[in-house]
Amino acid sequence: MTHRREEHTFIPESDLEGVSVDTLAVRAGQHRTSELEHSDAIFPTSSFVYGSAAQAAARFGGDEAGNIYSRFTNPTVQAFEERIAAMEGGERAVATASGMAAILATCMALLEQGDHVVCSRGVFGTTNVLFQKYLAKFGIATTFVGLTDMDAWRDAVTDRTRLVFIETPSNPLCEVADMTALAALARDNNALFVVDNCFCTPVLQRPFEFGADIVIHSATKYLDGQGRCLGGVVVGSQKLMEEVYGFLRSAGPTMSPFNAWIFHKGLETLPIRMRAHCENALQLARWLEQQPAVEKVYYAGLESHPQHELASRQQDGYGGVLSFTVHGGQSEAWAFVDATRMVSITANLGDVKTTITHPGTTTHGRLSPEDKALAGITDNLIRLSVGVEALEDLKNDMRRGLQALET
Ligand SMILES: *Cc1c(COP(=O)(O)O)cnc(C)c1O
Repeated sequence: MTHRREEHTFIPESDLEGVSVDTLAVRAGQHRTSELEHSDAIFPTSSFVYGSAAQAAARFGGDEAGNIYSRFTNPTVQAFEERIAAMEGGERAVATASGMAAILATCMALLEQGDHVVCSRGVFGTTNVLFQKYLAKFGIATTFVGLTDMDAWRDAVTDRTRLVFIETPSNPLCEVADMTALAALARDNNALFVVDNCFCTPVLQRPFEFGADIVIHSATKYLDGQGRCLGGVVVGSQKLMEEVYGFLRSAGPTMSPFNAWIFHKGLETLPIRMRAHCENALQLARWLEQQPAVEKVYYAGLESHPQHELASRQQDGYGGVLSFTVHGGQSEAWAFVDATRMVSITANLGDVKTTITHPGTTTHGRLSPEDKALAGITDNLIRLSVGVEALEDLKNDMRRGLQALET
């Protein structure tokens, strides 16, 4: 099998020019090896061997392209990187051990002491901790602002700002950022505009089309879609990704070949899964909105959502995550969650299985009461990551939750 290592070619990009993201999900980053296997090869190896001492020297010296060690590059990981880069429309992707490793690598590679970050307030809880607790230790300050408050964004930017970081739609309130406006603000201030595109995936939203410099994913969520492993990825220009790659290669939180293979296969069904998530979530949101025990539903697909039009412009669908408040407080929200029987009580999201969580005491439980209030995480808030089960069965399970509030 030694011949194979020389033949990690992919279907050339020129053959895939102009095809849709649905097709790229299945065809981009596909190996063409001499085995011509229809699935994709997996290369679970820590290091690679050479034909001669001269070849080893050429590889190490950078005179010959090729694999050396799986902390640097690995063909299975590369296959996943090629595919997600093509889907996002970015020049290059760099895979990481988790979504947090993707965010960390971006910051470590592109920021230095004294730099300033402006970040949207409702970001993933751990992202918040990374900026507030750890990057702060190294002299990188972060200002948090409301995702949709453009005046606050303008006020927060200083001459030291190097990164503008957002998630859109936000978690769990589904607020939608105006990416074009934020990209312009970042550009005018010589800062990079980074979008965590975890919730939409490139199937529903391609932030580069709206001026993003870097797109980040927790692959753990929708890219896998079946809750099997952790991973992340950073996508951007060759120039920026060379820096991110350099950090990862030196620091180590790279993606394992096995996980890369899972994600690579996961991408093949991502377009059809995302459409199923969107359809179920929209129908469920509309139905929940009509229930008397439900106070408010947060989902950008609803006409009642303040950024519904913006979401319709930026996104090809509204995603699978929605949240809602019930009349009452934490005990009512918990009673609702506990009365469900089919959906999974877990903080994970992006799975084909519907999950339910109480953000105030789980995903956002570490926020201070003030930060919680600012982020709109109230005690009566429940988040659903709507899966692909039959809609009627999901409604029936939600009815159990509603019934618990009637007694
Ligand atoms: C889960 C998540 C992350 C972190 O990803 P991990 O793979 O858990 O490290 C980052 N951003 C968003 C939006 C997430 O949902």
